[in-house]
Amino acid sequence: MNGDASGAQSHQFQAEVAELLSLMVHSVYSETDVFLRELVSNASDALDKLRYEAISNPALLTGAEKLAIQIKPDATAKTVTIADTGIGMDRQELVDNLGTVARSGTKAFLKGLKEAKDGLGLIGQFGVGFYSAFMVGDRITVTSRRAGASEAWAWTSSGGAGFEMAPASAEQASRVPRGTEMVLHLKDDAARYLQPFELERVIHTYSEHILFPIELLDDKGEARQVNAASALWQRPKSELKPEDYTQAYRSIAMAFDEPALTLHYKAEGRQAYAVLLFVPTTPPFDLADPGRKGRVKLYVRRVYITDDADLLPPWLRFVRGVVDSEDLPLNLSREMLQNNPQVTQIRNGLTGRVIGELETCATKEPETWSKIWNAFGVVLKEGLYEDHERRGQLLALARFATTAGDVPRSLKDYVTDLKPNQTEIYYLVGDSAERLKANPKLEAARARGVEVLLLTDPIDAFWTAMPQEFEGKPLRSLSQGDVDFGLVPLLDDKAKTDDKPSTDDEAGILKAVKEALGDKVSDVRASQRLTESAACLVAGAQGRDRELERLLARANRGSGAKPILELNMRHDLVKAVGTAEKDEAAELSNLLLDQACILDGEIPADPAAFSRRLNIFVVRGLGKGS
Ligand code: ADP
Ligand code: MG
Repeated sequence: MNGDASGAQSHQFQAEVAELLSLMVHSVYSETDVFLRELVSNASDALDKLRYEAISNPALLTGAEKLAIQIKPDATAKTVTIADTGIGMDRQELVDNLGTVARSGTKAFLKGLKEAKDGLGLIGQFGVGFYSAFMVGDRITVTSRRAGASEAWAWTSSGGAGFEMAPASAEQASRVPRGTEMVLHLKDDAARYLQPFELERVIHTYSEHILFPIELLDDKGEARQVNAASALWQRPKSELKPEDYTQAYRSIAMAFDEPALTLHYKAEGRQAYAVLLFVPTTPPFDLADPGRKGRVKLYVRRVYITDDADLLPPWLRFVRGVVDSEDLPLNLSREMLQNNPQVTQIRNGLTGRVIGELETCATKEPETWSKIWNAFGVVLKEGLYEDHERRGQLLALARFATTAGDVPRSLKDYVTDLKPNQTEIYYLVGDSAERLKANPKLEAARARGVEVLLLTDPIDAFWTAMPQEFEGKPLRSLSQGDVDFGLVPLLDDKAKTDDKPSTDDEAGILKAVKEALGDKVSDVRASQRLTESAACLVAGAQGRDRELERLLARANRGSGAKPILELNMRHDLVKAVGTAEKDEAAELSNLLLDQACILDGEIPADPAAFSRRLNIFVVRGLGKGS
């Protein structure tokens, strides 16, 4: 920080801000309109905060009666000014809020922005907020007066490395009795924003449903309100057109896409509240982050309270919108929100309605539903282990890749097509459907035409770890415990060859392999799963599924539990163990284990030993070795 004679002091931007600004300035985005959306949204937030603080301190409202946002283009000075009479910022707040980025995920965003061809989507999703002003302005002056404060401060920056702070001049201070004024000196290629109709177009597109009046000032200083400034969710459905909802969605969610689903209703009775919720079409880039801020805004009698009330469970965090209560007290604190029984009631009611809406969509509009599931299924699946009560409903909504074809299937489809005597729903968890389809653990199921769910989201390993069932049919992993398809008939009876070793031979082979492998495995047994491959690895009936164990082991949270090696007793390599002498049987046993590892997508514990063994037998097979 450096001072000069006029009292101005220079400050450095935080490194991330400097990086963000340089990206803003140097990349050519096709869509610069967002700057106005962001600044208007900040102004609206500031007015919301003022109204909220004024509930307990009405004196804050003095100085400027009207709560409004004013936008004024000045063709001569080549500036656009956006002013609000909101809460304002004191000196320290200006330095902190307009010099750093507090948001989590900023790093990921910056990385994405550098890699993306067109940053538009990302900018829209992330909401780079205030800094987007530098897309259109090459110098920005922010004058702000915190509500109730006697002094006002001026913040100025031309982008680059930093900004200047100084006490507002008398003239600046008189223009800002309360709140914030932002003057953008437009770059030449942004001169179109000097035209009132251009500003009006952007306001209609993104800010129509801001609750405060947005006024456009002409050169004579006369103000004209350009947005509806009404709570759309309070209006009857019959009055609203699809475009109104799209506009409301874009302004509430700061999004560019169309809502895939809109839910608009009023709850009456013990709790009265209006609800306007949307399911987006496009998933945001940080969807997977469970720390993402709550996205449903809570209003009480049209006064914005918070978007942090957890009105929906984390596994519905992709839903955006507004809940406006008639009954809650205005002076709700955070703690009260957590424990308030009325809020709990709203929360339960809301969750039920959203699920109901998703169910209706899934039955009546399967195509829309499959899009929604593709975008947000990963998040909904979190509910399968977090929310015991909703598990059945969520399972019914789920769509899975299966061995039955290329179209994702519901469990209802699955159960309808059960094979004779089939009583369980089978699945396999892994990295990719392609890899899973090649997994030998599917062989016995395939031989019987039994459908298997192919689960490839990381979260699948977790929710399947809890007991799950659908219409009385338990879900069962093909890489865990004993699986016996015994009663399900084979598709082709020829597959049922009886060249199995005798019981004694079988016992001998299992014993030999067990001895050779020692504590590398917890058990060796004959497999009901395999028809073609020689061996596979499975988890015990009690332990974790192999895939979950693998995921946790990567995070050093593995249990260290050893897998079970299952052998296909009809396979020649396995039978060979029975006739080999001891040393050779040991080599073959290790080869079987390493093969099973590879088929599971793992690297053998000792790759060098594996390749040495393989070479010995190959060379011998070619008749060149000893
Ligand atoms: P966000 O709105 O997501 O917090 P922004 O970059 O848009 O991020 O704004 C950063 C912060 O600057 C805001 O959180 C707010 O504290 C402050 N701010 C921005 N504009 C205004 C304004 N018009 N009035 C008061 N505070 C503002
Ligand atoms: Mg903002």
